[in-house]
Order: sequence, then C-alpha cells, then structure tokens
Amino acid sequence: MTEELFREDAQLRRCEARITAVDEAGIRLDRSIFYPQGGGQAGDAGLLRLADGRELPIADTRKGAASGEIVHVPAAGADLSGWLPGLLVTAEIDWQRRHRHMRFHTATHLLCALVPHPVDGCSITAGYARLDFHMTEPLDKETLTAGIARLVAEAHAVGHRWITEAELDANPGLVRSMSVQPPRGQGRVRVLEIDGVDLQPCGGTHVANTAEIGAVIVTKIEKKSAKTRRVVLGFAESAAGGS
Ligand SMILES: [Zn+2]
Repeated sequence: MTEELFREDAQLRRCEARITAVDEAGIRLDRSIFYPQGGGQAGDAGLLRLADGRELPIADTRKGAASGEIVHVPAAGADLSGWLPGLLVTAEIDWQRRHRHMRFHTATHLLCALVPHPVDGCSITAGYARLDFHMTEPLDKETLTAGIARLVAEAHAVGHRWITEAELDANPGLVRSMSVQPPRGQGRVRVLEIDGVDLQPCGGTHVANTAEIGAVIVTKIEKKSAKTRRVVLGFAESAAGGS
C-alpha cells in the first residue's frame, strides 16, 4: 500500500519516501507523488534520489498487482544495484510533463460539460488528449474550441472531495449532474468539481483553476464508429509551433 499524496495535492512536485520493495517490475515506496497510469491519464516520469546523491530515472508509473500498490518503473537499462528496501529517497516528478497531463485532464472534463453524451473512452498524454463520446450527432471543431476557451477564460475553481456512497444515494440531484457514474463498492467516491461547470467521479490530477489550462484547442474530430465521435485536444502552442 502506497500513500497517494497526489490524490490530495496535485501540485506536489517532490516528496521524501522510504523504499518498501524492489524487483524487476520497479520500485515501491511507502508514499508517492507519482501518479500511476489509470483513468485514461498517463503515468508520471521523474527520478528518485538516494541520500548519497545517486539518481534513478523513472520512465513510467503503473499500478501494482495488489490494490493501492504503485510501481515506479525505472528507465530501460537503469542500474538497480544499491537500491534497497528501507532506504530513504527523494522522489521528484517530471513536472513539465505532469502539468501537461493536468491541463489536458481538466480540459477533458470541460469537454464533458460541453458535450452532454456518455464517454466511452479516454486517453490523456503530454502531447494530446482524446475523448470518445457515445453519440451519433456531428460535432464542430470550432464550436468546441470556442466553448473550451470560454470556460478557461471564466477561471472556474477546480477541486475534489470525497463523498460516501450513502451521501450519493441521498442526493439524487448530485447523481443526475454527474456525467460519469461513480464506481460502487469501495465505500467512498472521489469527485472532481469544476465550480458551476462539471461534477464527476475522478481519481486523476487536475489544475486548481480552469485558467491554468491555457490555450487548448480541438485538433481533430473523428467518426470512430457509427455511434462514437472522437474528440482530440492539443495545446495551441505546439500546434502552431509544429513541435
Ligand atoms: Zn477525470
């Protein structure tokens, strides 16, 4: 079990932790700021540093076999000798990459508010994000780009809270306002609220205010199947710069 510091504070860039296990899959810590791939969002990269200054580059973060387990996956060819359970490390995420995940993740929730149809697929990376909507109507690139720009400019606060399943059952209005049905059977549900815009269950990392998303544009709309429309998001700067 790894204490998931990123669930309460997505802005943390580094933390101190203790190594609990090391194997061919990677390194496990007692606490971490590294987000493991899940809910459509890519895993974090970064590095771990021992007290003597030795560094281990981390290429990806995955969930382990046991629930609540986080595996920090070293870059290919990294030397794991001397990385032993019990040692203290400083864990540091690649903040540039993670912040792009956060900007895109919150932007996909804005898209959910603009397109009132069920989502049946989602992928969030540092270079693009895509969301598949279960729908047959056409979507317009310019209209959606303008809608996102408006919600970004309006600077809505973004925050999360935990609610119990009983609380959820007692507030049918809350469930109706959610675009995604929450997972059941774990006692509590983490919900992400964009003030006045969107409320849905989500375990991902988000910016603190929609203004922090910056210039995100719809780069492509595809008809994936008769009943699926795929919306692809990009950052305006990389689309313009071609990098
Ligand atoms: Zn989400």
